[in-house]
Amino acid sequence: MTDIQTLEQAENLLFNQSKIEEAAELYLALSNSKELAHFCNYRLAKIANLLGDPETAYALYYKAFEYMPNLAMDLYTNILDSKDYVFNGLHKEKEVNHCPLCGKLGTPKWCYPLPEATGFNHAINPIRLWLYCDECHHVFARDYPEQVFDLNNNPRNADPAYFSYYSEVLSNLRQYTNGKTLFEVGIGASECLLAAREVGYDCFGIDVIERHVEDARRRYELNVETHDFVKFVSERKYDVIIMGDVLEHVSKPIEAIRKAAELLADDGALWGQLRISTVHFP
Ligand SMILES: [Zn+2]
Repeated sequence: MTDIQTLEQAENLLFNQSKIEEAAELYLALSNSKELAHFCNYRLAKIANLLGDPETAYALYYKAFEYMPNLAMDLYTNILDSKDYVFNGLHKEKEVNHCPLCGKLGTPKWCYPLPEATGFNHAINPIRLWLYCDECHHVFARDYPEQVFDLNNNPRNADPAYFSYYSEVLSNLRQYTNGKTLFEVGIGASECLLAAREVGYDCFGIDVIERHVEDARRRYELNVETHDFVKFVSERKYDVIIMGDVLEHVSKPIEAIRKAAELLADDGALWGQLRISTVHFP
């Protein structure tokens, strides 16, 4: 049997018959082949993950990238953000082994190749190891870039599709408070602040990404400032505080919630939502 036939058989065992261990043996037999090593190690990584060994998967994914730094050309042909990615060694990242919520040591849970998702940022390491906290069930990334917000500052126009969404959020908040001051943490493309201003709120917002703040001032004349919420200090209290898609990005989410509570007026309302995906940090 030629190497290509063996590979076809392995793919069939893996994807059509779910005979994972048998497929692994065939990939392993081909894993030093000059032409197929990158592909077979990538598949072996996937299998290690499925068999509950994400640390081995992590090592195998990088082995695949070392065999062929531009394997994205072969493997991610349908993912526009990733197909021209070339691995050029590991970037130094912040390592987090203990749960950001309760402090307990995490255990490896799952390994994910980020280029398989849309929106992959080529400046970050391509393989993410997720850790699980046995104490509070939180799942968190073991590594992420120190200056993640500097890498994630693509400008985006306010999308009118979000206005009706935020109108509904603000409308629902009226059952908790009729106060008129609103503070948004993480303004992004300003949709929430624009909707809030339209219905009469006295709005203020911050974002850690300066570009968002500049755009909000220049395009919409919003009252906004560049701050990292972790270091933000204010004497003022607000009737409504909005934290949409924020908590999953901060290194100390419990402290962030405490701070938001301190900034809330008596009878004020705090609104937050979490959007969990493999491309978010931490
Ligand atoms: Zn925990």
